[in-house]
Amino acid sequence: KQRGKANWIRYAPGMEKPAQAHAQLGGDLRRALDAGEFRLVYQPLVDLRDGRVVGVEALVRWVHPERGTVPPIDFIPAAERTGLIVPLGRWVLRETCRQAAAWLAEFGPDALRKASPNVSVRQLHDPDFVADVRAALADTGLPANRLVLELTESAVLRGHQVLKVLHEVHDMGVRLALDDFGTGESSLSLLRAFPAAIVKLDKSFVDNIEVDEPGSAAAGARQAVARAVVQLADALGLDTVAEGIENQEQADRLLRLGYTVGQGYHLGRPVSAEDFTALLAAQVRHPSAVMTVDKDLP
Ligand code: C2E
Ligand code: MG
Ligand code: MG
Ligand code: MG
Repeated sequence: KQRGKANWIRYAPGMEKPAQAHAQLGGDLRRALDAGEFRLVYQPLVDLRDGRVVGVEALVRWVHPERGTVPPIDFIPAAERTGLIVPLGRWVLRETCRQAAAWLAEFGPDALRKASPNVSVRQLHDPDFVADVRAALADTGLPANRLVLELTESAVLRGHQVLKVLHEVHDMGVRLALDDFGTGESSLSLLRAFPAAIVKLDKSFVDNIEVDEPGSAAAGARQAVARAVVQLADALGLDTVAEGIENQEQADRLLRLGYTVGQGYHLGRPVSAEDFTALLAAQVRHPSAVMTVDKDLP
């Protein structure tokens, strides 16, 4: 806290031996969950045509009493290895539903179309997963069609049991998004079997997409992938989101390629629930105003 909100501190700065640090991290995560040290921050999904917030992604943070805010890259892999991702993911799902239902109650059905937590494949193997989703919706009152679960492409997603779970969730009315799309190995075969509603074009295809270097195969290839993904999505009846938009030129380029929804620091950083509430309140007060971006937010 003393270092200020914007300072993220690397966990396990290499002072302990790796195995010891690993075991300790697993124990710390359990304690942290019981102590309520996890928080969600919220990043807007924005309509690129008019700047309006159309959705929100919930991203987990660990607010460690001594180490400050720990980003997911420093604890999600350990949570997946130790299995703690199951109770942690259950908490993320429930908290996202609770917060989204509260925003809908406060600002009305048009303020926010959908809310998205991230879900690890490990959670899909948990026998209680489908019941947890159903209970989270029932207990918070969030309509199923407002919930979008973000899953990364992965070979594991093709397992028969996992597909069955995804179809059960889909049949409830919950939508599924394929996160980091384009970075996995089997996008096309996966898309056929998977009840996806949304594909999220990975940031790596958005980086430098605005750069036109004559004769540069790399720049041309990124644009070609971005175009191919949106055409594929259109053909399959899927919605798209372009991730990691960091400047207006990228937003303009993606809009011209056919993307209507984007996410990224240029459109809005992940912020606390309080700050996101203020963003929605401002949008409700000024329905026609283009969202202003405060680049100094943490
Ligand atoms: P993701 O789901 O692809 O989330 C997007 C990540 O990109 C977030 O990082 C977000 O802060 C960051 N981001 C958004 N816009 C920009 C941008 O314009 N530029 C740059 N450089 N980055 C941007 P974050 O919050 O550190 O999360 C990283 C990853 O950790 C997520 O990637 C997701 O895979 C995972 N994660 C986060 N929260 C959860 C969770 O609750 N459960 C699980 N299982 N995974 C989570
Ligand atoms: Mg995500
Ligand atoms: Mg993503
Ligand atoms: Mg990504």
